[in-house]
Amino acid sequence: MNLFRYQSLGSTALVFAGALVLSLSFFAISLWEFSRTEADDRARTVQLAEAFVKQYATSHSEDMPLPAAFRRMGLENFLQTRVGDTAHAPMKIRVPGPPGRELGFTESSSHVAQKISKIAESKDVAIQHELRIENSKVIGRSIFPTIASSDVCVSCHNRELGEDVYQAGDVMGAFVVESDLTGYVVRSLAYSGVAFGLILLVYQFLAIRENRRTRAIVQLESEVQLERQRREAEAYSNFVLSHDSLTGLVRRSVFMEKLRSECSECLEHGFYLALVDLDDFKSINDSMGHDAGDALLIAVGDRLQKIAMGAAGLAARLGGDEFAILLPKSVHFPTTDSIGSKIVELVRQEVNHNNFSIRPRCSVGLIACGPGDFHNTKSLLKYADAALYVAKNSGKNQYCQFDDQVLKDLKRRSLITNALPKAIRNDELEVALQPKVCLSSGAPIEFETLARWNLDSKSVSPAEFVRIAEETGSILDLDLATLTKGARFAAATSHVIGAPVRISSNVSALGFRTPHIAEKIATCLDRAGFPADCLTIEVTESVLVENIASANESLSSLRASGVRIALDDFGAGYSSLQYLQQLVFDEIKIDRSFLQNITEDNEKHFLFLKIVEMAKGLNKEVVVEGIETQAQLDLALSSGARLGQGYLFSQPMNRTECLDYLQRSVGQQTRSQLG
Ligand code: C2E
Ligand code: CA
Ligand code: CA
Repeated sequence: MNLFRYQSLGSTALVFAGALVLSLSFFAISLWEFSRTEADDRARTVQLAEAFVKQYATSHSEDMPLPAAFRRMGLENFLQTRVGDTAHAPMKIRVPGPPGRELGFTESSSHVAQKISKIAESKDVAIQHELRIENSKVIGRSIFPTIASSDVCVSCHNRELGEDVYQAGDVMGAFVVESDLTGYVVRSLAYSGVAFGLILLVYQFLAIRENRRTRAIVQLESEVQLERQRREAEAYSNFVLSHDSLTGLVRRSVFMEKLRSECSECLEHGFYLALVDLDDFKSINDSMGHDAGDALLIAVGDRLQKIAMGAAGLAARLGGDEFAILLPKSVHFPTTDSIGSKIVELVRQEVNHNNFSIRPRCSVGLIACGPGDFHNTKSLLKYADAALYVAKNSGKNQYCQFDDQVLKDLKRRSLITNALPKAIRNDELEVALQPKVCLSSGAPIEFETLARWNLDSKSVSPAEFVRIAEETGSILDLDLATLTKGARFAAATSHVIGAPVRISSNVSALGFRTPHIAEKIATCLDRAGFPADCLTIEVTESVLVENIASANESLSSLRASGVRIALDDFGAGYSSLQYLQQLVFDEIKIDRSFLQNITEDNEKHFLFLKIVEMAKGLNKEVVVEGIETQAQLDLALSSGARLGQGYLFSQPMNRTECLDYLQRSVGQQTRSQLG
């Protein structure tokens, strides 16, 4: 806007100056025109005057002096007649000086006299014009020098003066022709003013039109700008709505839309759908902080975007740590294997955040879709998800392609999902018991209760149904049912053998998220008639780090009732020493993965020794899980751990087997005491 104002100010000044120059020129031209015509008039006047003088001299005798008065009279007569004709102001002819001496001065204008003297002295006989303001009038004046052109003239004048003053060619005087130009000048000025005003008026008119046009343009421009801003805002809000703010990838809704269109268009070459889920993201988030978690998501998002963009595909963040990629079949990725391995390999690259270096891992579920295959987004997603599930549960950090086996697993999972809650409600689950023993003597200290379930007369792996129970929300019921069953058995057995039987029960992380878990456990023990101080509850550390304060609260109230707390599977996930210090627990169960491939003085052994040392330093009981061989037992013993569990001592047993086992070990103990 300012620019417009400056421009219009500039052009106004320019037009103003232009109008001024124009009107002044007009004025000047008018004056010049006047002086030109006047000069002509005067020239003719002089010629006539001279002619008159000559004629006068000829008609009289040659020695006859020519009195100046005659000349004046002749001129005046002549001009009387001319004045009537002229359109200019009336003119006055003055012949200064006494007769015979025309270089005299009039009393009215010493200035004119001076001028004529100068002409005479300089012998510059040119006609001189001047414009002067005298007595508030504009006077136009022409001075015509008269020259002693003939001897007659010279002698006549000299005679008149009584001495030889003049020679031929001398300036003897001058005709001064004056005219009052005031009216003319005023008129010229008025015309110029009118011209000036007209120019300004026209300019103003044009300026107003231009202004209107400019305003219309400005208005149009501002409307265009508003529209652009509105569109930009709309595009921005669309972008925000359709893109994930953290990773910049499109959101689920956009991805689904794209998937739908790919399905319905039935691409010529088909496409791949990959679902990507980060492994143990929660543990990373919990142990390293949310900033590290965000940095990880951003890095993974970038990498997936790179893959998608390189192959004209689309990457999306579906939510949390779940991503998806849609890729057309192409030379870049001719098979699902090529995509799966590319994703796993790229995601695996290190992510550095502050002082942390994270090695992300992901599981990928893949499905290839050719023309005429699946044209239903729902089933596509379901199958890709089933493949992802298999990848996750086959040890993570890998991809799995949807195939018949995955479909079979999917069907089985939905079978278990449907049957399990009913089986728990109907008390169809059994309990197996596996002893924790004293490593040095092999004597059982307590029995871990492990759930067992047969579906259609076939046993289902606890790893399988426990996971499904966790996923479908029936895990707490399962845990409490197993605990109750184990507690009942232990209570009954302790009566049989005449000694207390301790049990150790697993409670899932999800169970610890439900309120009043301690009361629920207490209720189970009451029903089973089992003393709380004979129970150990096994929890994984992930349960506890989710919300240390509330977990500690539940654990503390359990401990207050006499229940011991064991930290299960220690070292399997992202163990944080910081949490260990804050948590309320009594026992560490070192995960059996530590004993796999352990040899004396290898890295695992070193770590194992350090964990035992640390647990003892914290004054915690140590249980070494998964002891299968004598060599592993020896290592466990040499570490200083007191308790252990594993197939070397006993497999999990059913209740009858466990009763036998107990009776045998009580007998052994009695014998060894007696012996
Ligand atoms: P866990 O709590 O670590 O239980 C120990 C598992 O290790 C048991 O497998 C047991 O059979 C197995 N095990 C014991 N010693 C050895 C050994 O020397 N070598 C090998 N390879 N394995 C050994 P199981 O019974 O299949 O249970 C698997 C997991 O299922 C359990 O691991 C536990 O996490 C879960 N689980 C079982 N019952 C329950 C339950 O009632 N509630 C909950 N929440 N989880 C349960
Ligand atoms: Ca356990
Ligand atoms: Ca364990």
